[in-house]
Amino acid sequence: MSRYRLQPTPAQEAALLEHCGHARFVWNLAVEQHQHWKAGGASAPGFAEQCRQLTEARAEFAWLRAGSIIVQQQALKDFAQAMANFFGKTHRRPSWRKRGRGEGFRIVAVKAGDVRRLSRNVGEVKVPKVGWVRFRWSRNMPEGMKSYRITCDRAGRWHVAFAAIPKPIPAPGTGEVVGVDRGVCVSAALSTGELLSVPTYHGTEKVRLLRVLRKLARAQRGSKRRVKVKQAIARLKARESDRRKDRIEKTSTDLARRFDMIAIEDLQIRNMTRSAKGTLAEPGRNVRQKAGLNRAILAAGWGRLAVRLEHKAPGRVQTVNPRYTSQTCNACKHIARESRESQALFLCVACGHQDNADVNAAKNVRDTAAGHAVAARGSSPLGGPVNREPQRDLLLAR
Ligand SMILES: [Zn+2]
Repeated sequence: MSRYRLQPTPAQEAALLEHCGHARFVWNLAVEQHQHWKAGGASAPGFAEQCRQLTEARAEFAWLRAGSIIVQQQALKDFAQAMANFFGKTHRRPSWRKRGRGEGFRIVAVKAGDVRRLSRNVGEVKVPKVGWVRFRWSRNMPEGMKSYRITCDRAGRWHVAFAAIPKPIPAPGTGEVVGVDRGVCVSAALSTGELLSVPTYHGTEKVRLLRVLRKLARAQRGSKRRVKVKQAIARLKARESDRRKDRIEKTSTDLARRFDMIAIEDLQIRNMTRSAKGTLAEPGRNVRQKAGLNRAILAAGWGRLAVRLEHKAPGRVQTVNPRYTSQTCNACKHIARESRESQALFLCVACGHQDNADVNAAKNVRDTAAGHAVAARGSSPLGGPVNREPQRDLLLAR
């Protein structure tokens, strides 16, 4: 995603707001439908059925027909994705959208000629039913751009974000499989023994961030000073996030180039985040530790790495059930919670094998994907069947 500041004329702004209104209307209609259907017990209409209903609604209402069908259909598509995220337990249930709050719409099937550069700092994007809208050409345009999203923030500033799916990287053809484990001590560990870290705030940045956060606490609500402090915070955060995204791009490209198959854990970040608050089986236990761990996980941008890997190495990413991968000895396959000496060290209680804990887990992830059943011997920490070779299908998440 590359975001640019959009500079619409007043007339264009009115037209953009109309698109936002249509997208919001369609989205809220979908939300209402799903709430209604939930009470009824039967399953709610899916994307295809909603599109059919949209066609009917457009035939009936002239004001809706006057808007862009792309904007309206994409709002339905966004809603379908939001529901999928909700069922996948990575996001909350989609809710009502209000005027003036996070407004926006998406345009797809964008052609190369729909964006042009006027000068060094000025570009133009063609918006259906609005025309050419200028934006500040503040960074390079991503290659292979297929869609964009236009948003208006609470301060009334317009942005356009172009989305590009990177071209797949050809496999090296070596037959090599790599396991990637989301680390506790490092951001990610590879089964090759490499440890990857994702940059966060530099020392001086951390100090500055803490300072502006204290300023924010003192700044009065609604004051000009508060707005300024908030902007300073946003700038610091944006710089950190740019750096993190950059590292994820480089890492995913590197992995796609070097290995034929990339095995990653299928952990649901959201689930782990929730459990820290104590809504799962063990309410509120180890909240402090977990909160720190969750922050680290989210900071490491694991989800983004997985998505980029799918883009760059389509069909070559294997997600693996993470069960026992951190407690299984990669040398003798013995499972014991006690083998995890510390966060950093794995020391097998059965054979004495010693390794970096995250690297040991990454090797188990690799072996599971390669078809060797992990968790074959030893007692199951969860009291499941003992000494049984688990089905490969059960270990593979999909
Ligand atoms: Zn062992």
